[in-house]
Amino acid sequence: MGTAMVPCAPLSRLFARLPSHHAWRHPAWVTLLVVLGLGLASCGEPRDPMLEVSGPTMGTFYSVKVARPPAELTAHALQQTVDTVLDEVIAEISTYDPTSELSRLNVNPTTDWVPLSPDLLTVIDEGQRISHLSGGAFDITVGPLVNLWGFGPEHRPDAVPDPAAIAAARERVGYEKLSLRADPPAIRKTRGDIYIDLSALGEGYGAARVATALEARGVTDYMVAIAGAIRVRGRNPKGTPWVIAIEEPTPGRRSVHRIIEISDGALSTSGDYRNFFEEGGQRYSHEIDPKTGRPVAQSLASVTVIDDDATRADGLATALMVMGEDEGPALAEAQLIPAYFIIREDEGFRVVVTPSFQRYLRE
Ligand code: FAD
Repeated sequence: MGTAMVPCAPLSRLFARLPSHHAWRHPAWVTLLVVLGLGLASCGEPRDPMLEVSGPTMGTFYSVKVARPPAELTAHALQQTVDTVLDEVIAEISTYDPTSELSRLNVNPTTDWVPLSPDLLTVIDEGQRISHLSGGAFDITVGPLVNLWGFGPEHRPDAVPDPAAIAAARERVGYEKLSLRADPPAIRKTRGDIYIDLSALGEGYGAARVATALEARGVTDYMVAIAGAIRVRGRNPKGTPWVIAIEEPTPGRRSVHRIIEISDGALSTSGDYRNFFEEGGQRYSHEIDPKTGRPVAQSLASVTVIDDDATRADGLATALMVMGEDEGPALAEAQLIPAYFIIREDEGFRVVVTPSFQRYLRE
């Protein structure tokens, strides 16, 4: 295939479509900007053809790049494919859409078995596996606490909740309060007021679903980014591995901390440095420890995980973030999880990298 010059306009298209709500404080939005910025860095150099589309989704943004696209795939068709898939995902797992399958399950007070779509079962099952792996640090039933602390769809005012309200919400939390059945797919709650929050998995799951749709259209070289959840395959337009930035975890600043090169796999970053509020000099972030009912209070600023599966990478990043700077790296090393931890120190940052992550780091 011959080379072509890539036009230098994707960011202006993206900015034209920015939603107006609080998405700017989304931690991974900045990561996406960095990813796009890297894509533009070599603008003007000869490259193989690339299609690129971007837009809003899930309260944040997506970017999809396809290198060496099949001849019949147009940018319009690519955008339609991506938007259709992401709308399907939202209709399945969003707690921000009151009509989604998950929202309907959350308001269903029954403790009998409830039929589930196979897709929703798959995501919930992944969440349950990560809960077991992390000893309950990760818990998709944490929703009542997420909402109480103002990080859910209710968008409550930024304030530390009353201890009695925290205790009441904690009563409703516990992944072991859910039972799953594969055939036919169904779920059972031991309490009618269990509320499932799949936000920690959803962007990764969306990226995985888009990747599957692209591959069904014959696409072999792509990068799908939904905020900080990224799925790549093949090579970029220059014929080299895709280049992704880990962001410096500093509130209010956008800078690259480290560069990763990856050809096939998924990468996800969770952090406490964008989606938080402060009260009395204390930072309260959206990563909630189900055991205390409170946002994690620690020095761990961000965790980046690489995995074959984008849903799992997304969930593991949150799990390791909640586990903290000691237990997180210990679990990642024991389980051979490629993970990159950035820990805040008095002066700057300290980094912990698991051996299996090293090979992705660009020198
Ligand atoms: P991650 O670290 O990946 O996840 C953190 C989130 O996981 C928290 O915000 C909380 O929801 C949950 N969580 C916290 N603690 C735990 C724990 N211990 N175990 C498990 N989970 C935990 N936002 C909007 O503002 N508007 C929208 O319309 C909107 N629609 C969405 C639709 C979908 C399908 C999804 C999945 C999310 C949507 N969001 C929306 C949410 C928004 O994008 C979230 O900020 C995002 O999903 C959280 O991802 P993250 O990368 O910021 O953090």
